[in-house]
Amino acid sequence: MGAAACGEGDGTLRATDESSGGLVLLPSFRFARPHSELNGRRIFITTGGDLVCEHGELPSTISTWLQREKAAERSGHSPPPRASICDCRTSKGLNSAGSPGQAAKPPKSLFDHLCSLEMPTITVHGREARQVPFTHGNQTTFLTTMGDLVCRHGRKRQTLGNKRWKEGAVSKGIACSCAPPPFPFRKSLVGVRLGRYGGQYGKTACPPVGQ
Ligand SMILES: [Zn+2]
Ligand SMILES: [Zn+2]
Repeated sequence: MGAAACGEGDGTLRATDESSGGLVLLPSFRFARPHSELNGRRIFITTGGDLVCEHGELPSTISTWLQREKAAERSGHSPPPRASICDCRTSKGLNSAGSPGQAAKPPKSLFDHLCSLEMPTITVHGREARQVPFTHGNQTTFLTTMGDLVCRHGRKRQTLGNKRWKEGAVSKGIACSCAPPPFPFRKSLVGVRLGRYGGQYGKTACPPVGQ
């Protein structure tokens, strides 16, 4: 079943498509699949064969955060913020190497994965674009078949950041307050194709449901 779960404020924040071998896009934008469980914590294995927590973070990253937080506590300071929704208090269980044969297979493209998740769509210049998980509010981002990242009005970041365009848009009353974040948010998507090139102009980019 193509269970689509784009956790919006439900605490799980996971985009999973069980129809494609349990491949999951974790909040760190790493593709992974379930590997094991330890003390009720789910462990995932990435396409590169690394074990990560359910937020998609590596044990070395979690250990660094924990060290910094302990140091802050010792000196009576408030803990430095983590650049992640990860709140793991331990990296236990993540340090054993996963075998390469267990690694998750990457999707054909991020766009294809968003299609299998049945993420919301908009049309940009006649082409389909799909919402990127974990993006909300004015940071809501859509990915076009060509791999472009746009705001919910179909505008690229470069356009939104262009001062001259902005002034013109304000005077025409068509400006928006969108601020899609840079992408990929993390280096995790290196090697994964974003768009699906060759999507036919004007035609729906996703295969009919059930194929
Ligand atoms: Zn975590
Ligand atoms: Zn916009």
